[in-house]
Amino acid sequence: MKKIPVCETVLDGNELKYVEDAIKTGWISSSGNYVKDFENAFSGYCGVKHGVAVCNGTVALHLALTALNIKKGDEVIIPDFTMIACAFSVCYTGAIPVFVDAEKNSWNIDPQKIEEKITKKTKAIIAVHIFGVPCNMNVLKDIALKHNLFLIEDAAEAHGAEYFGKKVGSLSDIACFSFFANKNITTGEGGMVLTNNDELNERLRYYKNLCFPLNAGRTYLHEDIGFNYRMSNLHAALGLAQTEKIDYYVSLRREHGVIYRELLKNIAGIHFQNYDKNSNPSFWMNGIYLTKEYGKTRNELLEKLTENEIDYRLFFNGMHRQNSLKNFGCKVDEEFPISDILADNGFYLPSSSNLKEEDIMFICDIIKNFQK
Ligand SMILES: *Cc1c(COP(=O)(O)O)cnc(C)c1O
Repeated sequence: MKKIPVCETVLDGNELKYVEDAIKTGWISSSGNYVKDFENAFSGYCGVKHGVAVCNGTVALHLALTALNIKKGDEVIIPDFTMIACAFSVCYTGAIPVFVDAEKNSWNIDPQKIEEKITKKTKAIIAVHIFGVPCNMNVLKDIALKHNLFLIEDAAEAHGAEYFGKKVGSLSDIACFSFFANKNITTGEGGMVLTNNDELNERLRYYKNLCFPLNAGRTYLHEDIGFNYRMSNLHAALGLAQTEKIDYYVSLRREHGVIYRELLKNIAGIHFQNYDKNSNPSFWMNGIYLTKEYGKTRNELLEKLTENEIDYRLFFNGMHRQNSLKNFGCKVDEEFPISDILADNGFYLPSSSNLKEEDIMFICDIIKNFQK
């Protein structure tokens, strides 16, 4: 393992106690109180009425799209610069993901470039809060309203981030989270879908559990094709413990984001993700991209970091570069200049909740001195 990892899990609350309790009582499947408690705790934290726990963030997205009745023949607008699960979840429904380039400052989907991609088939927009920086939701909401589209949040990277004082996950028709090991809070593998809509909540619960009728008892008659996307009580036990400390973990990540930005702010050729003054990002990962003013290439800097046992991750390759999506029928032969700049020049720096301030100073010194 590298000396300073990109991300470490921090399980320093009631995790062991709750998991032990689940084991001792024998409730380890998805029937168990921790599932309900975690759903209530996390949805309550986000200020949303319903939370539906599932086994990962990818299926959270698929379940949300299914609940919205997105299907073959439809199109769903997603950012080009995002994690592959956003696109795949759309493909699972049979609908076609349509890519929109990133916005230069925020690296989120560029609202200015959305309307040109809307067709009669468009049903929804997925807004991904990349690296914990909230999208410009007011503009996205206006576009969705004007064209009668569902607005979905993929908040997998943004637990605790706020926009005009409201938590992400509460800013759309339906929102999805991941609790993978590197996210702001974790259950190892896990996810959740949030909605204020009672009918959507019922559809989520129905499709998540193999379309067993919700209120009819076990008839073993199924009217629709459903999925087993249930979260286990063991994972939910972790999730409840993590949610109890979420404000603390998010505040740590926020502090680290501020320190990185402060220490690297006067270095030519280093660019951080910007954000709206009315938002309070959670800085899940602190990414930068280099331009030639830095004087060294990305590869040269990454080698320097490796020499010093500092871990990093490259940015996503845009969706238009994915052969899987091209073969699926997605339109990839357009220009996505910002997404390309990010993919070719960007990477993120260590960003764990438990990162030490002295580590950030060490990392920033190396970046600073290497430029000279
Ligand atoms: C992590 C992530 C997902 C997928 O979550 P998993 O739990 O790994 O399936 C989806 N979208 C984004 C933006 C992510 O970062």
